[in-house]
Amino acid sequence: MARYGPTRNTNADETMSETPSYFSKDYTEARNKFLRAATALDLDVASHLNPNGKTPDGTGLYTDIVRVGDKAAPAKLLIMSATHGVEGFCGSGVQVGFLKTMSVRQIPANVEVILVHAINPYGFAWLRRVNEDNVDLNRNFVDHALKYPQNAAYEELKELIAPIDISRDAMKAANAKLRDYAEAQGAIALQGAVSCGQYAHTDGLYYGGSFATWSNKTFRKIVADVRDGATALALVDFHTGLGPYGYGEPIIEFATDDPAYGRAKAWYGDSVKSTVGGESVSAHLSGTIDGAMPDMAPRADVTAMALEFGTVPSNEVFRALRKDNWLHLHGELDSELGRSIKAELRAAFYPDADDWKEMIWARGLEVINQAIAGLAASTEA
Ligand SMILES: [Zn+2]
Repeated sequence: MARYGPTRNTNADETMSETPSYFSKDYTEARNKFLRAATALDLDVASHLNPNGKTPDGTGLYTDIVRVGDKAAPAKLLIMSATHGVEGFCGSGVQVGFLKTMSVRQIPANVEVILVHAINPYGFAWLRRVNEDNVDLNRNFVDHALKYPQNAAYEELKELIAPIDISRDAMKAANAKLRDYAEAQGAIALQGAVSCGQYAHTDGLYYGGSFATWSNKTFRKIVADVRDGATALALVDFHTGLGPYGYGEPIIEFATDDPAYGRAKAWYGDSVKSTVGGESVSAHLSGTIDGAMPDMAPRADVTAMALEFGTVPSNEVFRALRKDNWLHLHGELDSELGRSIKAELRAAFYPDADDWKEMIWARGLEVINQAIAGLAASTEA
């Protein structure tokens, strides 16, 4: 299948690359670009209103769905943005670009593409990684009727991970203790302690929640709406904040003997990494969307994947997250400090630079094309 990457300018007479224009400055602009691009193609939009909040300018928070192709197609590709709110700039840009360049694209007849724009619209609009409940949506897909996964290391380090004092001296002291822990237990152990998810502290980081959130229920509805008749279902869920600048690592959570592991390797090549066995930049996580998806569509082969793009060094991402959590709990959004923390958080998950956007678009489209090709081949008679 042909690949359509961004057009590089080779001389000054050519028009500038359109790629940066796919990306937006905030949630509202992103939503408008997405809706306009869908309308220009005469595609229907299904909008789910999140009743638990508004945007900063007082309008509604929506998850918008656009379906491209034959609804009866046996293979379905879901492309999703903003699972982690503030990370939505990246995935939204690729979704808008995908619609804007549709005229040059042929999608095989046996594949339907479903764009899920801003599954966590609150986090996107308010520049938070979490949702309106301070919940990390990608830790929220556990069975809430069962006993929650325990995270003993988080318990041990919780005051250091989510400090109530973010002054320079206090953060320095906390960081020194975290470094001691990493030296004693290993850097991977520290990463797991912080990021694998915890279910005990509503005011902590990477909190998985105590109920299925609105975004969780909405995602399940979306899958229930599209799964009938599907024999193959894939998810490309766009994330940012881990790995080298502009590089996109496909992350899966399957063990090597799982058929889905083989499918992902066949479709995406060796760049795909599993969190099982420590191949990936990510720790193995609790309560993820990818992990829960096979049960949502039991009659289909499910190949769920997070496409994780690097932004800034991980210590900067971590610092921004801790400050934002402090701001949410103890600070004043409408203050000099509040605005500076928000700017720091946005920059940690969205390098608002043309070179980064070009890299995101090229890699995002490459991976989407690989998923489409893989799905098409897997359901051919
Ligand atoms: Zn993420």
